[in-house]
Amino acid sequence: MKRIVIIGYGPAGISAAIYLKRSGFNPFVIGKDYGALENYPKPIDNYYGLTAPKTGKELIESGIEQAKRLGIEVVTDTVIALDEKDGIFEIETLFHTYRANAVLLATGKQRTTLDIPGFKTFRGKGISLCATCDGYFYRKKRIGLIGYGAYMKRELEYLRRLTDKITVFTHGHDLENDTDVPVVRDKIRTL
Ligand SMILES: Cc1cc2nc3c(=O)[nH]c(=O)nc-3n(C[C@H](O)[C@H](O)[C@H](O)COP(=O)(O)OP(=O)(O)OC[C@H]3O[C@@H](n4cnc5c(N)ncnc54)[C@H](O)[C@@H]3O)c2cc1C
Repeated sequence: MKRIVIIGYGPAGISAAIYLKRSGFNPFVIGKDYGALENYPKPIDNYYGLTAPKTGKELIESGIEQAKRLGIEVVTDTVIALDEKDGIFEIETLFHTYRANAVLLATGKQRTTLDIPGFKTFRGKGISLCATCDGYFYRKKRIGLIGYGAYMKRELEYLRRLTDKITVFTHGHDLENDTDVPVVRDKIRTL
């Protein structure tokens, strides 16, 4: 049976593992931490089938448990190098070297952040990066929306349904499309 190593045990890695297992492959999952949801303290309530809200950590843990229940091997380790010889991949981690017929990268992605004081401290505690994910928590509240382009405009349209107290901060950039909400064009120095 073909062995496939999946790097990442977030929602993408675990979902891929479940479908690969059911398709007759032998998936093996390696993850180093809880990924994007690692430090997400707010209860998540917008996934299908949740009978009670879960923190990011609990959601990731239940995904890993589900995979294990279905007979998938899941380990915690950090992949530090990948190599391939004669069609066989070598996956080097901090503790082992694994071999596989294929490797699937499900390592998530870095989000754009702001290099200003306070950003790291308040991320997840009032600072959010996704209106669809978190806008609900700020309904009827005063929101400072940082951005200037098409993405900001889309987030603004979403948030307007939840509150009418929004100010846009462009962080020194020119606004790509005008808007009727208040706009502050200065560079942001602190939060
Ligand atoms: C603050 C916040 C709130 C969010 N809220 C919601 C929400 O309410 N609803 C919603 O649907 N989505 C939400 N999201 C988005 C959701 O978290 C992501 O879309 C999802 O986690 C992406 O899944 P993923 O598997 O692609 O990546 P991740 O979940 O980031 O997983 C990446 C995996 O790769 C592993 N990895 C990376 N490098 C290595 C390496 N070298 N070796 C081993 N393993 C490695 C990590 O350990 C991790 O297991 C939110 C995201 C954030 C940040």
